[in-house]
Amino acid sequence: MPTTPILYLKDVVKRFDDFTALDNINLEIFEGEFLTIVGPSGSGKTTLIRLMVGMDEPTEGTIWLRNERIDQTPANKRPTCMVFQSLALFPHRSVGQNIEFPLKIKGVSPKVRSKRALELLELLHLPKSFYNKRISQCSGGEQQRIALARALAFDPEIIFFDEPLSALDYRLRKTLEKELVDLHERTGKTFVYITHSLEEAMVMSDRIAIMNSGKFEQIDVAEVIYSKPVSRFVASFMGEVNMFDFKCDSKGDIKIDGVEIRSSVLTKDKQKKYSKKAKGTLMVRPEFVRFNKAKETNDFQIRGYLRAEYELGSRIQYEVDTLDDSRVIIEKLREDRFKGKLGATVVIGWDIKHTHFIPND
Ligand code: ATP
Repeated sequence: MPTTPILYLKDVVKRFDDFTALDNINLEIFEGEFLTIVGPSGSGKTTLIRLMVGMDEPTEGTIWLRNERIDQTPANKRPTCMVFQSLALFPHRSVGQNIEFPLKIKGVSPKVRSKRALELLELLHLPKSFYNKRISQCSGGEQQRIALARALAFDPEIIFFDEPLSALDYRLRKTLEKELVDLHERTGKTFVYITHSLEEAMVMSDRIAIMNSGKFEQIDVAEVIYSKPVSRFVASFMGEVNMFDFKCDSKGDIKIDGVEIRSSVLTKDKQKKYSKKAKGTLMVRPEFVRFNKAKETNDFQIRGYLRAEYELGSRIQYEVDTLDDSRVIIEKLREDRFKGKLGATVVIGWDIKHTHFIPND
């Protein structure tokens, strides 16, 4: 990944009257990367993207495109572009006219415009015959592709996507997710994408930025965010997770209510890190929790009973209620199905290598 950012936000704050929608945002976006901003509703994603494309100005802080300060530059003067959630295509015009629109305002000749539109149709896997079709005759998925072709016709430095796939059905969404990844690779453009959907973020992005209440909680590659979240919020936002409160006693030994810990598992280093009087969260993802076979032991172990079993397609999810009334979620691939009866007593456990500690601030 390049080390100089194409877009840089420094100490950005956005207030609406006395409500702070963005609270001291610092973000570097690198040339050619696919960055996805994920967060719950109201966390500030759209507000942030509006500042980046120039539809609004920050209350405080600065925005830089390479070495040029752009936070006061209006949208039409910025070499960026946005694909709107609501497509904003001209419904009664032809596909070709829609794609060519940005070139027309730039004064490009009709011959060059139509050549480029046909190239873009091909890039977006749409037949050339679509050139003369009306937008109103195209399906939702086709319209998304046309909107993308039009965005690419602007030849922007950065393309911003505000939940472009949210209104589409599951199968089409999956197809377009893969097409977007492919398009990103083929064009080499910088993509900034916002979504509620963690799954979408995981499939497509080079990096994921998790937003919560107007701040970034964590920005990193999907694998790190999934396996080493910095907070309980990120851990639970990134899919199913089991979390337990831990505290260290005066000797530096970790204690977790209801969990047996094999004494040798916590190395001196780890003990030091979560040292005396430390408190925090121990996290393990459901796919790493096992049902113990006879005489098998794990680094961390819990007794409980099997409460429920759910079919998730290729996987099965189990819920185990522990003796001290907490609930643990376990997921297994279908071929590794656990053959226990509901209500049966079970011993479950996992190993230190699949455990992540989140210290309290
Ligand atoms: P969603 O996923 O639901 O689209 P979001 O993460 O994009 O949400 P924003 O639309 O950025 O969230 O809104 C962030 C917060 O700022 C919300 O509480 C919203 O009500 C508030 N907000 C946004 N625009 C304005 C405005 N023009 N005036 C007042 N408050 C606003």
